[in-house]
Amino acid sequence: MSTHTQTTPNRLIDNFGRQVDYVRLSVTDRCDFRCVYCMNEDTTFLKREQILSLEEIYEVARQFVSLGVKRIRLTGGEPLVRPNVMWLIRQIGALEGLDELTMTTNGSQLTRFAKEMKEAGVRRLNVSLDTLQPARFEEMTRRDKLSQVLEGIDAACAAGFERIKLNTVVQSGRNDDELEALLDYARDRKIDISYIEEMPLGEVRTRDLAHTYLGNDALLERLQERYTLIPSAEATGGPSRYYRIPEEATRVGFISPHSHNFCSTCNRVRVTVEGRLLLCLGNEHSMDLKAILRRYPGEPEKLRQALLDSMALKPERHHFSLTEEPQVLRFMNMTGG
Ligand code: SAM
Ligand code: SF4
Repeated sequence: MSTHTQTTPNRLIDNFGRQVDYVRLSVTDRCDFRCVYCMNEDTTFLKREQILSLEEIYEVARQFVSLGVKRIRLTGGEPLVRPNVMWLIRQIGALEGLDELTMTTNGSQLTRFAKEMKEAGVRRLNVSLDTLQPARFEEMTRRDKLSQVLEGIDAACAAGFERIKLNTVVQSGRNDDELEALLDYARDRKIDISYIEEMPLGEVRTRDLAHTYLGNDALLERLQERYTLIPSAEATGGPSRYYRIPEEATRVGFISPHSHNFCSTCNRVRVTVEGRLLLCLGNEHSMDLKAILRRYPGEPEKLRQALLDSMALKPERHHFSLTEEPQVLRFMNMTGG
């Protein structure tokens, strides 16, 4: 008998030495909004058999955690419109070894779910909010639901999450006159805000990005005219750069896929609701986890091995460009942002 015991790797490390410990799981492609940069009004959604069941999503999460993943973010579409999503949240929230379960939401269902989510172990919440003006909100999301979202944010604040962060996609000519107002709204509630550069993803092209683009460096300069912003060394494991306002709780983040390439420290992968494991937001490299789950029911080691094998597919970097055609033709509601 051989004295060598074959050890199965139990960490997800790619060919460039980066360890994947953060996974974003999309739990639905559906949404109660139709944000103009994300979806068309008449978007066709996937059929039930095309998407992972909640049990399958849980199995994917479980295997990732067994391979050293410490943080899981649920996203969508709008995660909170998936029927029974609270079951999934509770299951994942109880996984041993997971440090943090978070969610990105449009906020519309928070009045109903915030408290339950907090109790199920969700510690941080990102709420997308691009405007505080009702008419503009309706223009941007094609839905008249700003007050519902603002009530949802208040419910989340009352529920006692460790942190709540607003995510604001900066869109020149659409909301760039409101960026200070959104920061003041966050300061009043002692919550964080991150400004996100719009990304040329998918087939949704309502404008020419190269002409309307306001980079985060220019935005930072503009905010510094009104606020004292001190660079903060804090990292949340993501591609945000953070600043603090002295004596205040609010952190101001900048997520800059164009102007600051963050690929070298990329620790994340994504899983679409169809069960496609995406190794990079800006590339098509992927693996079909749904096929593996359905071909080998009751054989969790097959999924685990597939996750380990997928590391060889993670590309070194993405190549977004403002002037070229989008390289990745998929909608943001499919990848979860
Ligand atoms: N429905 C949830 C929400 O809106 O928060 C979660 C899914 S949504 C696709 C995740 C994030 O992607 C949101 O913050 C949204 O603003 C952002 N997003 C969508 N399309 C985008 C684009 N073209 N560029 C940058 N961010 C985008
Ligand atoms: Fe829905 Fe979020 Fe996409 Fe807006 S950004 S349409 S809220 S999935």
